[in-house]
Amino acid sequence: MSTLPRTLFSPEHDQFREVARRFCTERIAPFHAAWSRAQRVPRETWLEAGALGLLNAWLPEQYGGVGNGILFDIIVCEELGRTGATGPGFPLHSLIVTPYIEEYGTDGLKSRLLPKLASGEAIAAIGMTEPAAGSDLASIRTTAVPEGYGWRIDGQKTFITNGQNADVVVTACVTDPGKGAKGVSMFVLERGMEGFSRGRNLRKIGQHAQDTAELFFDNVHVPRENLLGELNCGFYMMMQKLAQERLMISVQCQARAEALFDQTIVYTSERKAFGKRVLDFQNTRFVLAGLKAELMAGRAFCDALIARHVDVGLSAVEAAAGKLWHSELLGRVADECLQLFGGYGYMEEYPAAQAFVDARIERIYAGTSEIMKEVIGRSLDGG
Ligand SMILES: Cc1cc2nc3c(=O)[nH]c(=O)nc-3n(C[C@H](O)[C@H](O)[C@H](O)COP(=O)(O)OP(=O)(O)OC[C@H]3O[C@@H](n4cnc5c(N)ncnc54)[C@H](O)[C@@H]3O)c2cc1C
Repeated sequence: MSTLPRTLFSPEHDQFREVARRFCTERIAPFHAAWSRAQRVPRETWLEAGALGLLNAWLPEQYGGVGNGILFDIIVCEELGRTGATGPGFPLHSLIVTPYIEEYGTDGLKSRLLPKLASGEAIAAIGMTEPAAGSDLASIRTTAVPEGYGWRIDGQKTFITNGQNADVVVTACVTDPGKGAKGVSMFVLERGMEGFSRGRNLRKIGQHAQDTAELFFDNVHVPRENLLGELNCGFYMMMQKLAQERLMISVQCQARAEALFDQTIVYTSERKAFGKRVLDFQNTRFVLAGLKAELMAGRAFCDALIARHVDVGLSAVEAAAGKLWHSELLGRVADECLQLFGGYGYMEEYPAAQAFVDARIERIYAGTSEIMKEVIGRSLDGG
């Protein structure tokens, strides 16, 4: 889709985009339906992505990245969105989980884990949500209690993206039960730790290729080195990192909405009714014209958010406003485009159907639309 000219990217980024685009077209798109049936992206795909530098490109070279900011990883997120590939959880791995380890991990933990997170040898997940605590993260119940040279962790998490594949899970635990948000710390749990198990691969209405799991911790001993940052500062860390997580949602929603819009133009140009192309009905052109204007505005907003995040870092309110607006935009685009596909829009193998069901969760995870309004609302009187 043509938008206003984008000014964020250098020729080096454009070359990188070609690599990412080819990978998504040749190594992801043809297999995505099979992965949806298997409810999982194979590890080989992660390793291939890592070998091409598509994972954690932002990491310093010493850890296997390019070390030149997050724009390369943003490009990967956009290209996955362009392909409608919701299975590979690369953006969450690179832009949400790894930053915790890079910023708050000890040197030992970083040199052990970061190169594997760049190569795809290790897959990352983040465990905040629990069965009884999602929006209200301060009421999580998973506990970490000092034990020997480390900690003992008990509890469970649910709805964890990359949950089946994950080798490394950054996990929020209560370390000072009386203190609510001020008693939460972040730990790294690793595949193979005794007492760390996974439940079923959760069945969702969309994003079927994405492995979303329950995680269980039963007396898991975690070495001291796996505590991230300061004790009891986990809530602060999550709030700080959520801005980048919410930006990533803006980026993927905008990219997916643009791709679906393009597919709808193609479909309505080919489909005939009453002797003419569906695109030639005034209603179709008005609907698509309205969406195009919204997508142009969305692109400008998204690029402004990316630029500001790269320059100074987004505030909580800015990131929430972006997440709210772009996830709602994708919802509108998916609904209107599906309608223009007619009955075929309701058929699973058509992109409009897939985009429609895949889009719904964007308004819920990484903070619901209502929570985004709460965050923005608190700023209205200067708070
Ligand atoms: C596919 C998928 C992937 C996910 N991936 C991850 C992941 O990788 N890691 C992770 O930790 N979590 C993950 N989540 C969890 C997700 O972030 C939560 O589901 C989400 O934050 C909402 O929490 P909840 O489901 O407990 O809903 P609840 O918090 O119970 O909310 C229920 C309803 O109440 C509303 N509500 C709650 N509080 C307020 C309020 N103060 N004001 C107004 N309305 C309110 C909500 O907006 C919502 O409409 C994932 C979820 C899904 C479905």
